[in-house]
Amino acid sequence: MKLFWMGKKKQLLVAAALCVSFIGAPLAQAPAEAASFSQEDLNDELMMAVGWMQNSAEYRELCYQAYNVALLQVKQAVANHKQGDKPLAIVLDADETVLDNSAFEAGLIDTDGAYSTKTWTEWCAAGEALAMPGATEYLQAVDKLGVQIFYVTNRSMDTQYEGSATNMKALGFPQIDKQHMLFKTTTSNKQPRYDAIEQKYDVVVYMGDNAGDLPIGTYHKKQTMRNAIIDANKNKFGLKYIVLPNPSYGDWEPAQYDEGDGNYWALSPKQKREVRNKALRKWVAPTEKKRMKTEATQHSLVDQVKAEEAAIEKAHGLPAGAIANDIHN
Ligand SMILES: [Mg+2]
Repeated sequence: MKLFWMGKKKQLLVAAALCVSFIGAPLAQAPAEAASFSQEDLNDELMMAVGWMQNSAEYRELCYQAYNVALLQVKQAVANHKQGDKPLAIVLDADETVLDNSAFEAGLIDTDGAYSTKTWTEWCAAGEALAMPGATEYLQAVDKLGVQIFYVTNRSMDTQYEGSATNMKALGFPQIDKQHMLFKTTTSNKQPRYDAIEQKYDVVVYMGDNAGDLPIGTYHKKQTMRNAIIDANKNKFGLKYIVLPNPSYGDWEPAQYDEGDGNYWALSPKQKREVRNKALRKWVAPTEKKRMKTEATQHSLVDQVKAEEAAIEKAHGLPAGAIANDIHN
């Protein structure tokens, strides 16, 4: 027994030394890092998206481009409008379509807080949203042309209307009243509100940052179906459908998760990150592929050594971890 144990100990020492030299610090730290991935860690992923929206010239360009294209459509519709035709209207979302709430999103960074109805209601009441670049000028130009403006938003009619109306009036947005601001009452599906508007008005353009801001049936659909619906409507973009960019949030995020019950919002911060990561199409450089293969082999070696240790401990009645302790001492 003694001779056997000494021989086995020597083998395991060599194997353990190989594993340690292969693996080094990064692998040793990996499990602890993964276990502690928090909402604050997830919030860090907002930094690039929100920074781009707040600070880049390119975001401003896209906003101006969207409003210029929309105004062109409205002017053409007004020029072609005949007596007896339905009155003209535009339909638009509010948040990240004309209202800039990026400070709310940025405020989550370096905190452990997630979006909640409570904090969002507080943000709406504060009335600190800004106008997106060119939004006020666009809306005022549409108003001057005598076209109706319908703000179809999922801000709550019960709890978020007053602060929102005060905020939007202060920004110079026209037609701010309950006839034109169709806030959420029962469902966040906007289609019934679109149907009600279309009964009385000829809608020239729909505008939004979310696929659900368009009357094309993407509500609660998953990624593949959403993209198929968009592809089927591709000829209408830049004409009847005008889109603003929003990489910081939107229905595209939960739409990436199509497993189990598909309820992305019930996942932990770590699981959400995994969903986001898994949804990416990636190219891996050959050197990185080689490194990953080596790392996988090292993990396999560690597992083999651990299994062998456990088997020996069991066979000889030793407590779990006895061999590892003996090797390291
Ligand atoms: Mg929006």
